[in-house]
Amino acid sequence: MLEKKGFPTKEQIQSCFPEKTVILNPKAIIECYEKIPCNPCSTSCPFNAIYIGDDINQIPVIDFNKCTGCGVCVFSCPGLAIKVVQTDGKKATFKIPYEFIPYPKKNEIWNAIDHAGEVIGKAKIANVIIGKKQNKTALVEVIVDDKIIYDFATIRRQVYE
Ligand code: SF4
Ligand code: SF4
Repeated sequence: MLEKKGFPTKEQIQSCFPEKTVILNPKAIIECYEKIPCNPCSTSCPFNAIYIGDDINQIPVIDFNKCTGCGVCVFSCPGLAIKVVQTDGKKATFKIPYEFIPYPKKNEIWNAIDHAGEVIGKAKIANVIIGKKQNKTALVEVIVDDKIIYDFATIRRQVYE
């Protein structure tokens, strides 16, 4: 699917998530499916929660026990392949990287978009954080229905009143 259409299957996406009980607390979800020479996610994590090893081409492996959901790796991944998620079983809160301007504003409602680029629901903007170092990437905190937790990929501007 990834090779033919450019987006992963639901099984591939779900394989990046831990059990639902683990994401009662915020955890990074790494959707990095292909071996590429890249490692800033690993080197930037203040808690050594992401392992790549000596071969920089290896796919990153996360230790959910070490991950605090701080979001540093979300800023540092050049592929925008990491998001932080937390869910109470009804509403899922994501921290996603966002690089288009204008940035969303807190409390706006935007479209929730899946990995294929389709609208799958609404996303409430809970917060927008601009990093000091990576100031061209915003960390946008959005709240979506837990039912779309494995489908949700990003947001698209469509401000609902
Ligand atoms: S969210 Fe923070 S603790 Fe978790 S892997 Fe990313 S940088 Fe490390
Ligand atoms: S920084 Fe991003 S693209 Fe690079 S290895 Fe880590 S997750 Fe993959």
